[in-house]
Amino acid sequence: MKLINGKAVAEEIKNSLKQDVLSYTQKHKRPPHLAAVLVGSKPASLAYVGNKVKSCEQVGFKSTLVKLNEDVTEAQLLAEIKKLNEDPDVDGFIVQLPLPAHIDEVKVMLAIDHKKDVDGFHPINFGRMAQGLPCYLPATPYGIVLLLERYNIQVAGAHVVVVGRSNIVGTPLSILLSRKSPLGDATVTLTHSRTKELSKITNTADIIIAAIGIPNFITEDMVRNNVVIIDVGINRVESDNQNTKAKLVGDVDFDAVAEKCSHITPVPGGVGPMTVVALLLNTFKAANKEIYG
Ligand code: NDP
Repeated sequence: MKLINGKAVAEEIKNSLKQDVLSYTQKHKRPPHLAAVLVGSKPASLAYVGNKVKSCEQVGFKSTLVKLNEDVTEAQLLAEIKKLNEDPDVDGFIVQLPLPAHIDEVKVMLAIDHKKDVDGFHPINFGRMAQGLPCYLPATPYGIVLLLERYNIQVAGAHVVVVGRSNIVGTPLSILLSRKSPLGDATVTLTHSRTKELSKITNTADIIIAAIGIPNFITEDMVRNNVVIIDVGINRVESDNQNTKAKLVGDVDFDAVAEKCSHITPVPGGVGPMTVVALLLNTFKAANKEIYG
């Protein structure tokens, strides 16, 4: 079994990006600039945004955090987005999800200028991805394809079973991997909560990508020998013992499954750091006007 070390690959990519950022900054007399909008103070969202800001500093980007109170109105949030859309100093920005229930996430996503949508969530970027046109790839799927590439995992012709069909992970990933392209050409089965006999399907997979949000959901009996497993899940599990801290686990029962795998990602240290790197790569493309001119 080989552990896929997303943390190490992310560091390698950041180190190489740092050199390119240096040249960019010298040439343009300013660094690339990523902004993040954070509504409220949910600990998980604070941690994710904190990681993104830290990574920006690491590679030499400028970063701006726009912090808004939990009770901000939808109109106020949309006004902030308009400002970022129109600010020539901001190359790309993200709105950290989830948003409070009184705000319509779809409305917010549609308000983001697709040319600055470095999370790759806007339907224009999604549609362009589906048609194989230049676009910002959604950050987590982009991070996963980079990881598969780094570990020379044969995707072309493989049977990939994606478990979970969210708009930000499972669905775009299933499209990306099945596209006729150097990072695709797989035969993909996209599964979800209404899928019948999931275990029979996962047992035919060469690669399983788990993006469900249920701790240890993929168990040993669901996988065959020599499978590659990419665990996207990030689940916080409280400890029974009051003296021990809560821990993060994935959607895969790692201890039981790992020995059967040819490759597997850990949680933490697998897909998470690659999502942040993908966001940085998209922002660098935005700064260079690589996609939309
Ligand atoms: P969502 O909650 O949006 O979607 C979960 C998916 O899992 C749905 O499609 C749902 O099916 C499916 N599902 C739920 N129960 C079952 C079941 N019993 N059998 C099969 N499928 C099931 O999740 P996200 O994609 O946003 O996130 C998934 C996980 O990945 C979370 O733990 C999240 O924290 C993590 N994550 C990690 C990232 C990273 O960078 N590492 C980035 C983004 C997310 P249905 O559609 O039918 O409801």
